[in-house]
This record gives sequence, C-alpha cells and structure tokens, in this order.
Amino acid sequence: MAEDAKNKSTYQSRSELKPRAWIADGLRVTFKTLVRTTVHRPNTIQYPFEKLVKPDCYRGRPGIVLEKCIACSKCVRICPNRCIEMVPIESATLGKVKRPQVNVARCMMCGYCAEVCPTNAMIVTPEFELAAYSRSELMFDPFKLQFESKPGYEVCSPMILPSEIKAGKTEMHNKGDMAIKDTVALDAKKCISCSRCEKTCPVGAVKMTETGEINPKTNKPIKKPAFDNEKCVSCEQCVDVCPKSCLSMKEAM
Ligand code: SF4
Ligand code: SF4
Ligand code: SF4
Repeated sequence: MAEDAKNKSTYQSRSELKPRAWIADGLRVTFKTLVRTTVHRPNTIQYPFEKLVKPDCYRGRPGIVLEKCIACSKCVRICPNRCIEMVPIESATLGKVKRPQVNVARCMMCGYCAEVCPTNAMIVTPEFELAAYSRSELMFDPFKLQFESKPGYEVCSPMILPSEIKAGKTEMHNKGDMAIKDTVALDAKKCISCSRCEKTCPVGAVKMTETGEINPKTNKPIKKPAFDNEKCVSCEQCVDVCPKSCLSMKEAM
C-alpha cells in the first residue's frame, strides 16, 4: 500500500511539471546559445594561449615588501588556513629579523593577511598560475614571497563598526583609524612589572612608567606598562607574552 501511494505521488508531481514545456525551455536556451556563440565570440577562451585581462585589484597569491614589515605577526593570526609562519631571515639591509613565510599550496587567496597588515607590507599580487611539481616548491619563504617588480595591491577595505551602524552613522573608517582599533587593557593588580610587554612590542607602544608608589621590599619605584594607542597596531604580542595574563584586548565594537 505504502509503495503504491509513493508511486502515485511521484507520478502526480511529475505530471504537474508539464514535461513538454520544460524540454522546450531547455532546447530554446541551447539553440539561443548556439546561435550567439556561432555568430558572435564564444564565452570561453583558448587558455593558456589566450588570457583574460585581470582587474587591477585581482586577488592572487600574497606578496610582501620585506622593508615595510614590522614582524607583528597579525597576518599569521588572521590566516584562516594557517599557512603563514614567521621565520628568521638575514639580509644586508635588514640584519637578522623574522618575516612571514607562506605555504601557497594551502593559501586560498582570501587576502585577509593583506587586509590586516598595519603597514601594507603584505599585499595581494596578480599571480595565480602556481602549478609546481612538488609541494616544497610552493613553500614561499620571505625572499620568494617578495613582489616588487610589478605593482601588487594593498588591501585597505574601509569599514564601519556595528555600534555605528546601530547609531545610524555612515562614515567609513580606513585602516589604522583610532575609532576601529582594538586597544590593550591592563589589570594593574596582577602586573608584576616584568617589562616583557615593553621588550616584545614591535612598534615601541609600551613604556614602563613609574606609578608614584615605592616597592617596600626593594625601596625602588614601582613601574607599570603604559600604552600608546596611537602607535599600537593591535598585534596582541604583549598579551601573549605576559606571564600573569594581566593584559587583554579591548575590541572596538
Ligand atoms: S591570502 Fe588568505 S589563505 Fe592566503 S596566506 Fe593570506 S590569509 Fe592565508
Ligand atoms: S601583518 Fe604585515 S607587518 Fe605584520 S608580520 Fe605580517 S606582513 Fe609583517
Ligand atoms: S602594545 Fe601590545 S598590541 Fe599594541 S603593538 Fe605593542 S605588543 Fe602589539
């Protein structure tokens, strides 16, 4: 009985679709496309002999301008595919520094790394033909990642905060605007004045500052970190390095 009912309902729904009408619809589209691609140019091209012109902001593999990088690791944090890591390099102009290396085999070319880069050192490039014979060839170390010969594209998408949308504001903010910057919050009671945050900050935005109190054990002034929000690039490295977890990021909302 159940099988009969099933067959019946299938037959009824098929008949509702009026087979002749939808077959004619399909044939009409096929015929129109045939005429269009015969009389005019086809939609496809003879790649790789022919290539389409890419727009200026085409998002291919990421690239880097080594001199602009401040080793803040924001690109490493944001990458959804975890294909970026900071590696040590040595060069005549930069000395011994750390710079990003990208596993292009895993990169999905989303451009997030370029979008968060505070100095626009990371860019998106027009390169997309990345086929190689081994995976190791697709590990782009900082030198291979460079892209200076041709113009890359700095990703600077303006944004607006959810709180501003709610308040009916429409003014967009550019990368680096104070209004959209996440800032560091200090829980001063937990701080042991180790100054690791000051030593770690890649842009010198942390300064150990005297609070005016005296340490009764050492009889020396107590110092706590003070943050220069103008200089801060919200990289969170100070938060990570704090041994007492007294730093946290206050998100711009
Ligand atoms: S483009 Fe996207 S996936 Fe590729 S390295 Fe940058 S953040 Fe990662
Ligand atoms: S986000 Fe930019 S400045 Fe920071 S490490 Fe990556 S490339 Fe360098
Ligand atoms: S203060 Fe902290 S979050 Fe800001 S740039 Fe320095 S290390 Fe990064």
